[in-house]
Amino acid sequence: MVNNFFLESLSFLLGSSLGSFANVCIYRIPLKISVVTPRSFCPECGRTLLWYELVPVISFLFLRGRCRICDSRISLRYLFVELVSGTMAVFLFLHFGLTVDALVKFILFLLFVVIAGIDWTHLVIPDRLVVAGILVGVTALSFTSPHELIYSVVAAILATGFMFAARFLGNLAFKKETMGMGDVKLSGVIGLFVGVQYFLVAVWLAAVFGIVYWIFQRFLNQAKRDIKLPFGSFLSGSFLLIYFAIGPNCPLFHHSTIPWLRLSTILYIPSFHYSMIPIIP
Ligand SMILES: [Zn+2]
Repeated sequence: MVNNFFLESLSFLLGSSLGSFANVCIYRIPLKISVVTPRSFCPECGRTLLWYELVPVISFLFLRGRCRICDSRISLRYLFVELVSGTMAVFLFLHFGLTVDALVKFILFLLFVVIAGIDWTHLVIPDRLVVAGILVGVTALSFTSPHELIYSVVAAILATGFMFAARFLGNLAFKKETMGMGDVKLSGVIGLFVGVQYFLVAVWLAAVFGIVYWIFQRFLNQAKRDIKLPFGSFLSGSFLLIYFAIGPNCPLFHHSTIPWLRLSTILYIPSFHYSMIPIIP
């Protein structure tokens, strides 16, 4: 029991530390700063952070969300990403143990958190993150279920084609840019992992998030007419929800007593089936 608690705490620490790294990526990649050097610094005063300012979750709470020297506010995003990443690591450890499966799922999770964070702050999706997603997907699939790789690739192409057509029609109808090419490319990665039907569910969910966001900006925040939607963030969020909470790969789904969750078996699509390969046998 003590041993398990120790491993869970370790998972949280490791997960939140990697979440902290994801925060660094969200800040640095769009600004074209290396994610390795220089060491972490305060974006306001440029001062290099000390070791005790870098402990995930704890440092943020200890510093009450402010820089120790210049007193500038640190975005709540840092705390949020660290907490969610730590929790996700514990969740994956509990369900999949110390396996390649858990590791690949966690990398995928972090990748989409970074994509969502960058699109949210800069309204762009860097191409290299899309490429990373495709590489993770194709590599993992060719090791674990090579016979399904072809279905996933076809799903990726169909999803990209669908979004490309939607973008084309949108631009034609509104006579302006309705969606970035980044969203189109990201759709391919989502299709690769969850298949066409669940991809369409992701688009629908993202549209719902988008409408809620628009209403919030328009009426509560009194934003001006031209509200730019970080649609890639909504797509990423929807993907993570489907992949980890309601899709066929989710532990909740397999053991669920809630009928509509099991009903989604009907929507079954070729998707990820990792064999459980233990890192430590
Ligand atoms: Zn500072």
